[in-house]
Amino acid sequence: MISPADASREASTTRPIILLVGAAGAGKGTQATLLASQLGLLHIATGDLFRAALRDRTPLGEQARAFMERGDLVPDEITIRLVGGAFARPEARAGVVLDGFPRTAVQAEALDASLAGSGDRLSHVIALDVPEEALVARLSGRWSCPTCGTPYHTTFDPPRRHGICDREGSALVQRDDDREEVVRARLAKQGPPMREVIAHYRQKGLVRDVDGSQPIDMVTAAVRAAVAG
Ligand code: AMP
Repeated sequence: MISPADASREASTTRPIILLVGAAGAGKGTQATLLASQLGLLHIATGDLFRAALRDRTPLGEQARAFMERGDLVPDEITIRLVGGAFARPEARAGVVLDGFPRTAVQAEALDASLAGSGDRLSHVIALDVPEEALVARLSGRWSCPTCGTPYHTTFDPPRRHGICDREGSALVQRDDDREEVVRARLAKQGPPMREVIAHYRQKGLVRDVDGSQPIDMVTAAVRAAVAG
């Protein structure tokens, strides 16, 4: 028999599973990367996993390609399979920062059920909020170097020479889905299901809201405070 004290000790030692939720461009990737490295957790970013699968032309990537190019969500069944694979990695044993998943209520329920099956649960849900016009400005100005990966922004962090990487001299490239018309389509299509995910976890009392339009270091501090609380 597990006494209540043992049970609470056990609950307090379950691995952290932190979800960052917010629209494309809200800063989930930046904050999730920082949080994962500071806390020694595995960062699972479904957008990055899908882009890698596309680049490597895996069967899963080929199934996702057309949806991603239109700015649509990839169907739940494919996405849930992708995340299952990431959770099975040994680095996930210490805990996980989820970035970009779940993005629909069906994905949220699948995640909850799968975590419950392994004796886990989400420890924190952090909702990053940024007004839509700021998201469009952030995303549609994003470019990066195809050689070294350095990110730039046409307004907030431009290269010294327009369109050219400062380090490599390569011509900068833009993600297909960061073109302004695709950005607007992504926000319009992906906003309603994301709000359902936030409502799902708000109902469970798990959501902490963070103003994602503040300067990055203030967002980072607010995220750390939310995770510590
Ligand atoms: P992101 O880099 O997070 O903006 O994701 C890029 C694209 O990958 C999205 O526009 C979707 O097409 C796809 N994607 C990423 N995560 C998910 C998810 N949880 N569910 C469905 N599609 C996703």
